[in-house]
Amino acid sequence: MSGQPLFNRLALIGVGLIGSSIARAARAQGAVRSITATARSAATRRRVAELGLADQVVETSAAAVEGADLVILCVPVGTCGAVAAEIGPHLAPNATISDVGSVKGAVLRDMLPHIPAGVHFVPAHPVAGTENSGPDAGFAELFVNRWCILTPPPGANADAVERLAAFWRLIGANVETMTAEHHDLVLGITSHLPHLIAYTIVGTADELSQVTRSEVLQFSAGGFRDFTRIAASDPTMWRDVFLANKDAVLEMLGRFSEDLSTLTRAIRRGDGETLINQFTRTRAIRRGIVEIGQDSPVPDFGRPHPELPHDPLPRPYAADD
Ligand code: NAP
Repeated sequence: MSGQPLFNRLALIGVGLIGSSIARAARAQGAVRSITATARSAATRRRVAELGLADQVVETSAAAVEGADLVILCVPVGTCGAVAAEIGPHLAPNATISDVGSVKGAVLRDMLPHIPAGVHFVPAHPVAGTENSGPDAGFAELFVNRWCILTPPPGANADAVERLAAFWRLIGANVETMTAEHHDLVLGITSHLPHLIAYTIVGTADELSQVTRSEVLQFSAGGFRDFTRIAASDPTMWRDVFLANKDAVLEMLGRFSEDLSTLTRAIRRGDGETLINQFTRTRAIRRGIVEIGQDSPVPDFGRPHPELPHDPLPRPYAADD
């Protein structure tokens, strides 16, 4: 527990990996006085109650937001608009409403029309995660030393933005603010495209009829195993991410395909110089990432790092986004 709670009542709509991690972290840090939670299915709501993740578990999103001064939607991106439409009329005056979606432009577009005047809408994206889902998968340290990107719309209330930033800092995150468009472009290349590549490569390996599935598993080196980890990420979440960030992902995919063609040509022509130049450039980028503390230099080859006790996944390959 540290200091005064920043909010009186937190309402969490959706209590999967991210929602349950927020609940655990907010509790651990005393960031809020009480938590009300809801989820779509009775089974998840029951599990949230069993785990004691909230002070109250209620059946509907509308009931969850009654009297809450902070509301965070932790549902798949494609669901945010419908949830906002349901809760809009029930939001308390002066409340802050946020989300954790991995795409920001579509969330802003879908939610904004349903937010009443006098309620502060500050979308957010904690760039932290694992490939696991559901309320059991979360943990209080998920956001520690990870980025949380806020994308307040033009004219957002500065005090509300700062208070939400303080909430994320209190539960361990570093906070950055940018526009929704810029967020979607940056995450398109750093997160969404890598996931698409992982989904593709694992599928391709699986379809190679001359190589059996057991051989793929048995001989998978660190690189491939890490792809399988990323490709195990939640199908619904990632379907929504690609549909919601279509333009940025297609733009990045176009550039990627061109660069892949360059390397393909170099291999076909035996052009080692092109390969060396590219690999030298990317090695420097990797070293830069380690230098700024975004990753550990220690190779893990798919195993949890023994020096990161709170991290069920090695950070370098967590499907975070
Ligand atoms: P998750 O573990 O699958 O949890 C999703 C939760 O949303 C579940 O509790 C689900 O309830 C609930 N839900 C779905 N539709 C709902 C609705 N219409 N009304 C109320 N609750 C509903 O997903 P997650 O990984 O926490 O992801 C949630 C959000 O975080 C997504 O927008 C994703 O883009 C973002 N995000 C994810 C990661 C990551 O690595 N996973 C990282 C950063 C951001 P049921 O269990 O009853 O279906």
